[in-house]
Amino acid sequence: MALVSLKEILQDARAAKYAVPMFDVANPQMIRMAVEVAEELNSPVILAAIEPDLPGNRLNFWANAANYAAINAKVPVAYMLDHATNFAICKRCAEAGFTGVMLDASSKDFEENIRLTREVADLMHKYGVSVEAELGHVGDAQAGQGEGAALGNKADDHNVYTDPASVEEFIERAKCDALAVSIGTAHGIYKTAPTLQIELLAEINKVSKVPLVLHGGSGTPEDQIKAAIANGISKVNICAEMMYAWHKSWMDVLQAAPNLGFLECVAQVEPEKAMMDVMRKKIRLFGSNRD
Ligand SMILES: [Zn+2]
Repeated sequence: MALVSLKEILQDARAAKYAVPMFDVANPQMIRMAVEVAEELNSPVILAAIEPDLPGNRLNFWANAANYAAINAKVPVAYMLDHATNFAICKRCAEAGFTGVMLDASSKDFEENIRLTREVADLMHKYGVSVEAELGHVGDAQAGQGEGAALGNKADDHNVYTDPASVEEFIERAKCDALAVSIGTAHGIYKTAPTLQIELLAEINKVSKVPLVLHGGSGTPEDQIKAAIANGISKVNICAEMMYAWHKSWMDVLQAAPNLGFLECVAQVEPEKAMMDVMRKKIRLFGSNRD
């Protein structure tokens, strides 16, 4: 039984200076792939879905697949809702067995962000579910691809850096268990490589009582990811790079097929390999592997 909460899975990472990968896995097939790679490299892993992945009964299919994968895994597994927009969806996820939710009230003002996060945290903690909040705002790299696009964000959705001066008060009052910070990454596929504000991150890390999270990890240069982890990032979210590899491979496979009536188990071999390679590469970069 390796099912753990988001809080538990991050406990060790900060002190030991590695980051736990959070993979956006939109469906049960991707859940299996993420856990297979995590087991292969002996790494903890966080499985995540976003609200658009979970309309209607899909939430239950997803939760059951994640739960099955987690309780049978040889490595610690947490599963969470990423970028939740409201209290009701968090409650549904807690009832379905999720062990973490990220409430994204980062586009609200400071007081409203605290109020909304605290409201969710008070309920989630009764279920033993951990809460990630966001202070500052991680914007979009561009519209059209990746996590940000899936959230319906716009191309003019700009970054607002996290203010270190408000971190302690936010965590204390919002009662969050992990904090997503805005230090220069963005959601989606970058047009040009980002420059992370590592000194700002180090300042935030000094005053934060909870582990810090980096959204928009896809496409960030490896040396900058390493510097971010060395300066307090304990969880890195990956979506766009995985989806790019997956869809690109599907495009190649389908374009090369003499007819489209071939077996699904044959068709998905290469796309699975492509996506799992991205996961493997990220786990090694984040240093969470113990293989
Ligand atoms: Zn995000």
